[in-house]
Amino acid sequence: MYRKNAWEQYTVEDRARLAAFADDYRAFLDAAKTEREAADCAQRLCVEAGFRNLDALIESGEPLGPGDRVYRKWMNKSFMAFVVGTESIEKGMNILGAHIDSPRIDVKQNPLFEDESLAYLDTHYYGGIKKYQWLALPLALHGVVVKKDGSTVNVAIGEDEDDPVLCITDLLPHLAQDQMSKTASKFIDGEALNILIGSAPERDSEKDAVKAAVLAVLARDYGVEEEDFISAELEAVPAGKARDMGLDRSMVLGYGHDDRVCAYPSLRAVLDYEGVPEATLCAVLTDKEEIGSMGASGMNSHYFENTVAELAALLGFEKEISVRRALQNSRMLSSDVSAGFDPCYASVFEKKNAAMLNLGVCFNKYTGSRGKSGASDANAEFMARVRRVMDDADVCWQTSELGKVDIGGGGTIAWLCAKYAMNVIDCGVPVLSMHAPWEIISKADLWEAYKGYCAFLELA
Ligand code: MN
Ligand code: MN
Repeated sequence: MYRKNAWEQYTVEDRARLAAFADDYRAFLDAAKTEREAADCAQRLCVEAGFRNLDALIESGEPLGPGDRVYRKWMNKSFMAFVVGTESIEKGMNILGAHIDSPRIDVKQNPLFEDESLAYLDTHYYGGIKKYQWLALPLALHGVVVKKDGSTVNVAIGEDEDDPVLCITDLLPHLAQDQMSKTASKFIDGEALNILIGSAPERDSEKDAVKAAVLAVLARDYGVEEEDFISAELEAVPAGKARDMGLDRSMVLGYGHDDRVCAYPSLRAVLDYEGVPEATLCAVLTDKEEIGSMGASGMNSHYFENTVAELAALLGFEKEISVRRALQNSRMLSSDVSAGFDPCYASVFEKKNAAMLNLGVCFNKYTGSRGKSGASDANAEFMARVRRVMDDADVCWQTSELGKVDIGGGGTIAWLCAKYAMNVIDCGVPVLSMHAPWEIISKADLWEAYKGYCAFLELA
């Protein structure tokens, strides 16, 4: 099946709009390196766009109606935005879903130790990473420390030019003969991913003086003591900003495209919606996808269903059956990145059914591998409706599978939404070097995703 390269059809005006959207996206990436920061950014954008906090309305019991715009942040790590439509919510919503957590290196609860006068943070990596990729590159530390009194200290070290950065060391090649003969998965133990955090002891100090010096800095700059690590969520991520990539500036190199490259245009599509829609619109940006969507802020929790129930109640639908109908009758794009076809690693892809850079937003009728195991396979009937709405809006789009039949694999949130019996299909943006510290996307695919999401919101 022939698919046209998206760039070929752009006018000068198209290219300018696309470039501006990509600039906004890069700013989002830089401000939102963790799920908490992404939820904060989403909240800021919603407030600026006149959305109201659903929690305040639940509290006051103020009824809602068509045209109302509300948002809800859940546990500071997941986020939902709604535009209420004219049609009964029982008829279902048009939902854009994506995740805002990304692979990274999490700091353990008892992390700080000193070895031969070097101080380290012990870590437990988060999500599917190639561990060797995270060595010998500048890391920033983002997250929160919640103290016993309930106050929260926000941490972001390593992003400003004047900030120090952190690093996990690698072994010099001269002594790496044994290490180099290991397979990549054994190249470095997960337990050996220790972040070097300090080396200068306090003057006239005793045992563990370097660790003491690090603790002194934490106390001075953040008012934090060692015990406070227990109630902290600190994430080491690649330090630095996302950058335009390629001499033609056609791509973006950044940390966490998976899955902010879908989360951002999903949110923007709902925020930018003008007027009062027929169906109620929703963007849900969820946490914990990279580790299986478990936990109270993951898609496997009831937070989304509960929020729809709250919304329905404020719309005058108090009965449980209304919530079931609202979810069952919904239409959803479960947006997550696709494995972009990489000519340098062509053998793992089946070219006809691979996601190509610059061919636009990518639909995966099913994920799963080795016999579609674990796949949430979208209905052909729904796929046909999606095709129609994409073509009518002149969206560049393609379809793909994640790699060859017996090779690929990888989950999304689609099956968790399919539990409600709604129509849901996986879709997203092709990524090169997925799950690496720095991933690559095409600006054209980002733009076509945004156009596609805007079009999907009109689905009747
Ligand atoms: Mn993902
Ligand atoms: Mn992923």
